[in-house]
Amino acid sequence: MTTTLPPRRPLPRRAGLTRRQQRGASCVWCCIVLSPDTAVSLGTQTYQLADGQDLEWHPRGCTRCAEAG
Ligand SMILES: [Zn+2]
Repeated sequence: MTTTLPPRRPLPRRAGLTRRQQRGASCVWCCIVLSPDTAVSLGTQTYQLADGQDLEWHPRGCTRCAEAG
């Protein structure tokens, strides 16, 4: 079971992340590859496309980054 925690620090801009980070396969902060044991779901976030459309994404972080203030 993946834990869900609201992000305690600002999320990086989605556009600047790697595909793995955008998919939730890697930590959004430190880029470490996540496993079900180490991943923390950061909840549903929204981002805006260039045309103004809002889309959802589901970023994940590692336990260490997610729990750091
Ligand atoms: Zn991390």
